[in-house]
Amino acid sequence: MWNSVSNESGEPRVRTYAEILKQKQDDEGWQSATSAKQAEVETEVLKLYKLRNVPILTRQKHISFLKKSLFRQSESYQLDSSRPWLCYWILHSLQILGERLDSDEYSKIVAFLGKCQSPEGGFGGGPGQLPHLASTYAAINALCTIGTPQAYEIIDRKALKQFLLSLHEEDGSFCIHKDGEQDIRGVYCALSVAKLTNIYTPEIFKETENWIAACQTWEGGFGAAPGMEAHGGYAFCGLAALMLIGKPQLFCLRSFLRWIVNRQMRLEGGFQGRTNKLVDGCYSFWQGGAFPLLHAILSMEDNVYGCHWLFDQEALQEYLLLCCQHPHGSLLDKPGISQDVYHTCYALSGLSVAQNSPRPLIIGSRILNLVKIIHPVYNLENTCAANALKYFNTLPIPD
Ligand SMILES: [Zn+2]
Repeated sequence: MWNSVSNESGEPRVRTYAEILKQKQDDEGWQSATSAKQAEVETEVLKLYKLRNVPILTRQKHISFLKKSLFRQSESYQLDSSRPWLCYWILHSLQILGERLDSDEYSKIVAFLGKCQSPEGGFGGGPGQLPHLASTYAAINALCTIGTPQAYEIIDRKALKQFLLSLHEEDGSFCIHKDGEQDIRGVYCALSVAKLTNIYTPEIFKETENWIAACQTWEGGFGAAPGMEAHGGYAFCGLAALMLIGKPQLFCLRSFLRWIVNRQMRLEGGFQGRTNKLVDGCYSFWQGGAFPLLHAILSMEDNVYGCHWLFDQEALQEYLLLCCQHPHGSLLDKPGISQDVYHTCYALSGLSVAQNSPRPLIIGSRILNLVKIIHPVYNLENTCAANALKYFNTLPIPD
């Protein structure tokens, strides 16, 4: 679905209910389990769109939910193996909403993340756990969101470099942890932390660009590994990884564009992760976040490429603000699904992308709804990414 902005003034244009209704799925007379589920979601979403509510970001409710989740995290989740992720999802969500914690709280989180760092480099899912590329990415993004000297200095860059080297395989892929599986998330996480903390060397990423390119599928998106199905999360990782490594010419842009523009749901306005799957708020970022990167690639070829992304930015904002906000705070996968900080983080990241094209497009009140701009490659709030890059780029690359 190409950008539907037709209004000459560049003002956001939201769809009428009649226009939305026209987008109901056509199962061509073949009912299946998939088409029945799709019909159920459309019914729920239509009920909400029919109310014609004014789209308002319930910012304070989300902030309270996130702060409570952070507090709960420090009490329970002792055995959880995704604690750096919880830190990142919560801190990044707050940052997008324009909310900072006080320095004591940040300092405690830095100390906690320090305990998750392994002497071999990288971060585990909790204190004393095996270092893992995904929790390393989450911990470093959380530390860069905090952005204090204490947060930057706690990262052992020399050991991190050794950790990345130890996971690099001959074919260019990365094991997600020692003796673990290889997939494109590992490659993206390794590249993101290496570039952000300025430890990148071509040696660590030998052959990696070719391995990433081999993950592009016949549909046009990227799969977890060569030969696997195209999927929103992996597509983002593949594209962002190629951007980080500086080789965006290595994949087929045309087929990727065709695949991704067709992942925005006609009726719901949000994105699905894979062909014939249901809409899900988290793909607002995993798919939506690819569009600023595509825009950058297209602009290299034609520097007057346009002021908006190649998807319907208003429809995505409508889905997030009218269908995905829980009345008690947090954002959701879809109406009726329980709340969590993962979906809150990626729905807010997607909302930021949907609003902040080169010419911003904000539905509803700009004052109430506008969120901070994110850096789409790292998925950090823009000033956090810029400050971290500025800090680490003054340090020498460790041996
Ligand atoms: Zn999801």
